[in-house]
Amino acid sequence: MTEKSKKKCSFCARGGDDKEVQFFFQGEGVFICNFCVDVLHRIMIKEQSPAKQLQLQHLPSPQVLKKHLDDYVIGQDEAKKVISVAVYNHYKRIKYAQLMQRKAVDIEKSNILLIGPSGTGKTLLAQTLAKRLKVPIAIVDATTLTEAGYVGEDVENILLKLYKAANHNVAAAEQGIIYIDEIDKVSRKSENVSITRDVSGEGVQQALLKIIEGTVADVPPQGGRKHPNQRLIQINTKNILFICGGAFVGLEQIIRLRVNSGSLGFAFESTTPSTLTLLEQIHPQDLIKFGLIPEFVGRLPVAVGLHELQREHLVSIATKPRNSIVRQYQAILSLDDTQLKIEAGAIEKIADEALLHSTGARGLRAIFEKIMINAMYTLPEYSGKKRLTITKESVQNGQPTIQQLQNLQKKIA
Ligand code: ADP
Repeated sequence: MTEKSKKKCSFCARGGDDKEVQFFFQGEGVFICNFCVDVLHRIMIKEQSPAKQLQLQHLPSPQVLKKHLDDYVIGQDEAKKVISVAVYNHYKRIKYAQLMQRKAVDIEKSNILLIGPSGTGKTLLAQTLAKRLKVPIAIVDATTLTEAGYVGEDVENILLKLYKAANHNVAAAEQGIIYIDEIDKVSRKSENVSITRDVSGEGVQQALLKIIEGTVADVPPQGGRKHPNQRLIQINTKNILFICGGAFVGLEQIIRLRVNSGSLGFAFESTTPSTLTLLEQIHPQDLIKFGLIPEFVGRLPVAVGLHELQREHLVSIATKPRNSIVRQYQAILSLDDTQLKIEAGAIEKIADEALLHSTGARGLRAIFEKIMINAMYTLPEYSGKKRLTITKESVQNGQPTIQQLQNLQKKIA
């Protein structure tokens, strides 16, 4: 073994007599010091980080984006199409500004408003797109935000979340996506009974408006309230895409009334248009009537509706997407040498139960989890290959476990 003082880093040439060098790793005739290990480690983390700046020259077309969404999001065809075009345009706008520089015509952002019941895929759409584009995404709930000066989260904290999702890379964060959920809950008429928080909702909209429009915001890197002498990160929100989502209960009625009143004496057809058909006719005025302030509505030029999920959608959601619940359980059970078989009737029954809870697809996992818990508790105790079959009956009685296990071999003592 060579003495430390006689070694020399093959990368930076620091010698072992350098007091700051703590150790060397030795390879075939080479040494690497702790400094170089540290540098390489940092480079590797940066390289692996998904939050690199978007490569605009490789921008996928709307059809490619839509096809990608089809792999993960069931139904919602119109929303997928609209959002794919809006996202494509958004990044094309950035590309154009970079190419043209000062000569560029100022193209406004196409922030998006997704309107649809809870658990129908609004967040999933935003997440799936961000993942495909490899841009950072921050998902926030509008109801946790307050206007400056009130107890609650400052809107700047949204940007901090995005900055963290971008692995502290400001340039990547500045091209990221922010999804703001429950935007309908900060409408003007919202009755917030809290005495410590912003009660108007309008204040939150005003505060959000600034960052949505595009501003250079000072963000405290540790979060929380700003205080003097604190180091602040500057984040320009000009190129951040904002996607807002909400259920907007009652909006349908507002649109219906407007559409009806425009029907000039004809009674509205007995076939009432579906919610989605109504949402296709949405006008900014309807959103203002609902309680969004006009400036805010003006910043969300793309609005699209998502439909309620029917039984067949829920069945597909459970089985078809690349990371569907069934595939996830199959993967996890395979580690216990177990094949999972779920009969079609069982999935339909699970979908029916989820429909009863009106939580969209969100209820599916909880129902699955309840059915699987006994099996997952027991299975690891058995050795050998196993098959777990879930039938319609097992969904009903919540006992899909032991009696459905086949080919069980000897129990581990
Ligand atoms: P929300 O519309 O309330 O934002 P989410 O997108 O968060 O709903 O959906 C909740 C969960 O339900 C998601 O994680 C996803 O697994 C599932 N889900 C909801 N809608 C769909 C859909 N259309 N296709 C596939 N999965 C969906």
